[in-house]
Amino acid sequence: MGFIRRLFSEPEKRDLTSECLRRYLPTCDVCGRLLHDGHRYVEIASIVLTGDKRQSTKGFFDAIRDRHWKTLRSFPEFEGGEDDLVAYLILCPQGSGSVVTVLDPVELYANPQCQTIDPISASEVNDILPLLGDAEWRPA
Ligand SMILES: [Zn+2]
Repeated sequence: MGFIRRLFSEPEKRDLTSECLRRYLPTCDVCGRLLHDGHRYVEIASIVLTGDKRQSTKGFFDAIRDRHWKTLRSFPEFEGGEDDLVAYLILCPQGSGSVVTVLDPVELYANPQCQTIDPISASEVNDILPLLGDAEWRPA
């Protein structure tokens, strides 16, 4: 990951991911509250979009659709020097949530773009949480 990109990734700088999530989802589809009202998010998986990634990209989206969280967690491929597809878990204040996928372009001034959103129940959230280890939560 390059120095400048690392600067942009630091929590005290602008959080482009949070801005992207709020733009895409100003009000949470699941709980009806504003996204910046008590929601937190965490990266749960990513995949690099270079070369022939069609098969693994399909596997990435299939894992989300089928709620195969262990499979999804086996895609921790983030590379700052490439376009990445990143899956985030957004947690609602009352325990349910959403899995949102974001295209994170390598181009420094290109904004991340949200691709899909899958609302998930509190019990599905509880299936994911033990798989996350010490993943870093941020305010949405
Ligand atoms: Zn919510």
